[in-house]
Amino acid sequence: MQLAELKTYIHDVPDFPKKGIIFKDISPLLASAKARTAATALLAKPFEKEQVDVVLGIESRGFLFGLPLADLLHARFVMVRKSGKLPGKLITKEYALEYGTDTLELQAAAIKPGDKVLLHDDVLATGGTAAAAIAMVEQCGGIVVGTSFLIELDFLNGRAHCGSTQVHAVLNY
Ligand code: AMP
Repeated sequence: MQLAELKTYIHDVPDFPKKGIIFKDISPLLASAKARTAATALLAKPFEKEQVDVVLGIESRGFLFGLPLADLLHARFVMVRKSGKLPGKLITKEYALEYGTDTLELQAAAIKPGDKVLLHDDVLATGGTAAAAIAMVEQCGGIVVGTSFLIELDFLNGRAHCGSTQVHAVLNY
């Protein structure tokens, strides 16, 4: 599927969840098996020849394509979740939002020192979420080999916060 066709499955919703934000709604893409398959293959493509031990999906929309991406790359899938959802010993990271802060958590044993980790989320906006997840991987001794997004909002320059490894987005806006 061409990128232009894939883009027809992403709907712009102006002023959601608040005024001035153009929300990228991936629901039409999720509803199409054809578009999902194409999107997953395009997410995996740049990393197919690389060693990826873990795909790290960020709650919650990062789970949707993170899991099939891990399948394609024959990698483990690990969740980064909002606070209070994961059991056991955790790595915790507070990060800044536009208003206030939020906390992400990761099971400490899920990433081993030396693991090669590919981070995935649906949308790269300011990059604050990705930066927090990268810091958590590094705290575990993991090596971030790349970051992968379905959608990148270029004008927010979130990739500046994604470290020095490859930043891959399927669709750019
Ligand atoms: P950020 O930390 O600013 O890069 O924001 C990334 C997170 O916010 C992602 O998990 C997205 O799901 C969500 N997000 C931010 N901006 C948008 C947008 N315009 N449309 C849809 N989701 C967004």
